[in-house]
Amino acid sequence: MPSIWYRTLVQHSLILAAGALVGWLYDGILWGVLFAALGLLAWHLYHLFTLERWLATGEHGPLPDGNGLWAQLFARIEAVNQRRREYRRSWTRLAKEFRRSTKAFPDGGVILTPNLEVVRSNKAARDLLGLKKKRDRGTRIDNLIRHPDFVRYLEQGTSKESAEIPAPGNSGRWLSCRVMPYGVDQKLLLVRDISDSVNIARARRDFVANASHELRTPLTVMTGYLDMMAAAPEFPQAWRGPVAEMGEQAARMERLVQDLLLLSKLESGPPGSRDKAVDIVSILADSVRDVRALTERPQHIELDIGSDARILGEKSDLQSIVENLLSNAVRYTPADGSITVSWQTDDTGGHLCVADTGIGIPADEVPRLTERFYRTDAGRARQQGGTGLGLAIVKHALIHHDGELEIISKPGEGSRFCCHFPPDRLAPAVSAAGLAQ
Ligand code: ADP
Repeated sequence: MPSIWYRTLVQHSLILAAGALVGWLYDGILWGVLFAALGLLAWHLYHLFTLERWLATGEHGPLPDGNGLWAQLFARIEAVNQRRREYRRSWTRLAKEFRRSTKAFPDGGVILTPNLEVVRSNKAARDLLGLKKKRDRGTRIDNLIRHPDFVRYLEQGTSKESAEIPAPGNSGRWLSCRVMPYGVDQKLLLVRDISDSVNIARARRDFVANASHELRTPLTVMTGYLDMMAAAPEFPQAWRGPVAEMGEQAARMERLVQDLLLLSKLESGPPGSRDKAVDIVSILADSVRDVRALTERPQHIELDIGSDARILGEKSDLQSIVENLLSNAVRYTPADGSITVSWQTDDTGGHLCVADTGIGIPADEVPRLTERFYRTDAGRARQQGGTGLGLAIVKHALIHHDGELEIISKPGEGSRFCCHFPPDRLAPAVSAAGLAQ
C-alpha cells in the first residue's frame, strides 16, 4: 500500500480512537466516535469544495492548499497540468514551425474539403493561383481556377497524373496541378511552377518545327531534279542506280520532315476540338481499301466494324492514327500473315484496334515504343521505310482526343494496338443522330 494511504488510515483510526476515548470519559463512546467521524467528513468536504471552486475558475488560479491525502492529490493534479502545458507549448511551437516551413515552400498547397472547397492554402499557392486567404475560404476550387483542362482533370476524378495549365492572370507562367487524398477525407491540391520546363520544351519544339520547315523547300527542289534525271532518256546508265538510291533517300527525308512537322503541330497545338463528329468507320474503310490497293504484300486484311458511332475530334489526326497503325501492321507482318482492323463501342467508350500476326515486340520494349525514334530493330525498321515517329504521332494524336494507346504483343505471334476513346468523345452515327432529332 502506498505510504500516503497507510498514513491516512492510521491518522483516521487515531482520530476515531481519540473520539472513542473522549466519549468513554463522558460515558458515550458512540457519540465520541460519531463526532470524530463528522470532523473527518467536514475536513474532506472542505477540500472537495476548494477543489471544485478551483476547477470552476478554469484551472487558472493557484491550486488550493491542502494537507495529508489532499496535499498529495493537489500535487498530482499540478504535475498533470504542468505536463499538459508543456505538450501545448511544444504543439504550438511545432504548428508555428510547420506554418513557417509551408510559407518557405516554393510549391503551393491548398487543402480542400471532399467537395473541393478551399480550407487553407500556403503563401506559394496564393501567389501562383492568385487566391485570397479569407475571401476564397469555403469557395469551390473550380470556381476559382476555371481553366477547362483543370476542370476536366477534376471531373475525371484526378485519375490523370496532373493538369498543366497557364497560371491565372496572364503572368506567362505555367503550373502543374495535382490533387491527392489528404487527412481523413480531405484533398490536397499541389501546385508547381513548371514554366522553365515548359519553355525549354517549347523552344525544342519550335526549333524542330522551324528546322523541318526550312528543310522542306531544298528537299522538294532536290527530289524534283532527281525525278527529272531518272526520267531523262539521255541520262548515263552508270548513274541511274545511284540516282535511284538518292531519290529513295530524299523521299525518306521528306517523310521524316513531314512526320516531324506533324508531331510538333500535335505537341504544341490545342486539344482536338469536340465540335465535329468524324466518321471513323469510313476512315477505316478508306485506309484498308488504299492499303489493299497499294501494298505489294498480299497479307489478308480484315475489317471488323461493330459500331457506327463517330468520334468527336479532328479528322486529320484520326486519319494519322489509322494510317500509322495500319502501315506498321503491314510492314511488320509477313506476306502470309493477317491483319484485323476493328471498331467497337461499349460503356467504357470506343475501341479502335489494329491486330496483326506479325513479328511481335519483346515485352520490355513495349513501354518505349511511343518515344520518338525508338525502334525495336533499328536496321530493319529503316529498311522498311519507317521514320521512327509513327507511334509518337499516334500517342500525341490520341492525347488530343483524351484517348489512350494500349499495346499487347508477343514476339513471333503478333501485336495488337488499341486506341481507347472515352464515352464523351463519341457521337451517334449520322442516321441515328438524325432520327433522334
Ligand atoms: P517506325 O516508323 O520505325 O515503324 P513507329 O514509331 O511507327 O516507327 O514504330 C516504332 C517501332 O515499333 C518500330 O520500329 C517497330 O520496331 C515497332 N513496331 C511498331 N508497330 C509494330 C508492329 N505492328 N509489329 C511489330 N513491331 C512494331
